[in-house]
Amino acid sequence: MPEQSPIYRVAVPSPLYSHFDYLPPAQSREKLVPGARVRVPFGRRAVIGIVLAAADRAAVAREKLRRIERVLDEQPVLPQKLLALLAWAAEYYHHPIGEVLAAALPQWLRAGRPGEAPGVEVWRAAPGADPGALKRAPAQRRVLEALMAASDGLEAETLAALTPRWRAATGPLERRGFVARTQRPCLPPYREPAEPGPTLNEDQRAAVEAIVAGFDSYGCFLLHGVTGSGKTEVYLAAARAALARGRQVLVLVPEIGLTPQLVARFERRLGLRVAVLHSGLGDAARYCAWRQAAEARTAVVLGTRSAVFTPMPDLGLIVVDEEHDPSYKQQDGFRYSARDLAVLRAARERIPVVLGSATPSLESVRNAREGGYRLLGLPERTGVAALPAVRLLDMRRLAADEGLSHPLRTAIAERLARGEQSLLFLNRRGFAPAWLCRDCGRVAVCHRCDARLTYHHARRRLICHHCGAEERPPEACPACGAREARALGEGTERIEAALAKVFPKARVVRIDRDVTRRQGALEEQLARVHAGEADILVGTQMLSKGHDFPNVTLVGVVNADQGLYSADFRAPERLMQQILQVAGRAGRADKPGEVLVQTWHPGHPLFTALVNHDYESFLSYALSERRDTGFPPYSFLALLRAESPKNGTALEFLRAARASAGAPAGVEIMEPAPAPMEKRAGRWRAQLLVQSTSRKPLHAFLDRWVPALTALRQARQVRWSLDVDPGDMY
Ligand SMILES: [Zn+2]
Ligand SMILES: [Zn+2]
Repeated sequence: MPEQSPIYRVAVPSPLYSHFDYLPPAQSREKLVPGARVRVPFGRRAVIGIVLAAADRAAVAREKLRRIERVLDEQPVLPQKLLALLAWAAEYYHHPIGEVLAAALPQWLRAGRPGEAPGVEVWRAAPGADPGALKRAPAQRRVLEALMAASDGLEAETLAALTPRWRAATGPLERRGFVARTQRPCLPPYREPAEPGPTLNEDQRAAVEAIVAGFDSYGCFLLHGVTGSGKTEVYLAAARAALARGRQVLVLVPEIGLTPQLVARFERRLGLRVAVLHSGLGDAARYCAWRQAAEARTAVVLGTRSAVFTPMPDLGLIVVDEEHDPSYKQQDGFRYSARDLAVLRAARERIPVVLGSATPSLESVRNAREGGYRLLGLPERTGVAALPAVRLLDMRRLAADEGLSHPLRTAIAERLARGEQSLLFLNRRGFAPAWLCRDCGRVAVCHRCDARLTYHHARRRLICHHCGAEERPPEACPACGAREARALGEGTERIEAALAKVFPKARVVRIDRDVTRRQGALEEQLARVHAGEADILVGTQMLSKGHDFPNVTLVGVVNADQGLYSADFRAPERLMQQILQVAGRAGRADKPGEVLVQTWHPGHPLFTALVNHDYESFLSYALSERRDTGFPPYSFLALLRAESPKNGTALEFLRAARASAGAPAGVEIMEPAPAPMEKRAGRWRAQLLVQSTSRKPLHAFLDRWVPALTALRQARQVRWSLDVDPGDMY
């Protein structure tokens, strides 16, 4: 009897909760390796899948199996360790394995491109090339002379800056043997020696020593350092120690924090080229950096959320900076937490992971308080002033014009007189969050969402911030015909306008999504601030991330109350984190800062803690509140969401889902409810919360429930998704 060929389990990018079995390609005798890409027929299409394993036996009859069309990789693109982590994540987040693997792969590989890293073309002058022979070809001569002066050769970009006709010039030069074209790896070598850093203070040194002592075994360190305490110096020192042992280092940062300055700082201080991975890169550049890391040709990866999936064979240390940042949680598709997976990856690879933050999340704090994580504290600021004094402005007693109270205006005027900068923080872009008829009180709402339209004055538009719908403000009220409308409340645009009126000579710079949409615009605005070309900054939470403003001596929080009484249980935690982060960006050694907070609820415990710079007491207050209400970190959640263009359909699906759940032990299943914003972008949304005080029964239940959901008749009428450990409740 002829030996039967093996069957291969392949993960294909599809929303189906399963892998698929295939026969090997017709001619192939070689065994396929798990983690390699294959091209397989799927339905009527051909798709790129990943080999998971070989098997003797298929789930269906062998005759029904189709053949793998083509094998794309001899070596796995996803090494075994990473494949196992991703398989675990697919189970934990209850997400189809094919989509999980696709999320981990760079687009370059997903598109089926060859696995070799794309290089960068470089031109070099050949020995003996003679510019004197090019008297009648000035463009060729210029190119050749430039190449002769550059010992490392020049890239297309540099040549294009030299002359727009460089392509026409290099051809004949190449044919004459005067220049040669070569490929250089996408990361150019770094030739400078590592720069020494500042001397570490005692707390920083103790933190580094603790991390280094834990090399070669798993340990999770929560580095809680106040803003300005020099957390990055701890990362750098720990990274240097890992590099000295020949290990690789993975550093995760929130999207907006990954600035060219940060990359340059790591390269300067570590004396090597850092592989940078973020969503703004082109496919080739991104894959190239990924590949360098995968082949251990670069020791340090600095990246955003999905960089947690970068293959790194010699990985020895993971750092997650600003671990509290919500951007670590993927909000659609495969809804993973990069921070949580970083901790898990460290545990599986038996290496230390450092979670750093000035305002750590309640989840991490609880882990540290109960001994799961080791707490490392940096209570002192380095090189900057003491923490700024915080004063509450009780808006119940103060008049405000266009959102600015008298004490806040006076404080700004003082800074202007002294030539110092002020920063106003307000988490609402646009001119006004409501457009109101003065006669009948009608407020303009979005037709596709349960939301008010925001008035944008510069564009004279009412815009929905949830679905992007926009319209011209009506001349007359559609309800009563009155022609008197009023923009109610304040957004960043209105504060900017109010400041221009009150302080006509002041230079105001606004930083929010509206003004920074264009690529490079944020950097331009920040450069103006740092060059001293701005007196007042107005901005949203974009100001709370990654940028320091040493000349700012006044921070005004225009409306601190958003989030105090929100439907989302995490809102107060986020609010506190944002205010502390913004406040911490201001001031330096010789110019201490001041923070003024406008609030209608000055008695709220959050503000008491803020005034006292007592994050610990806020944490204790917030943790006890979470314990009383049974929310994370004292319980584990899964949120089943559904939406449909038809009213009622989403709720109907959730009722069926609720009925199919039965009464599992140790798990509480709530009643289906409309989402806090029931209608969004023309779809009706509803959700069903599942809660448990421990992970085990929750996941045992989900293991049974999710396949049952896919089988429900109502599932075909809605778009549904399961969010394990949801980041927000919307
Ligand atoms: Zn009206
Ligand atoms: Zn809308």
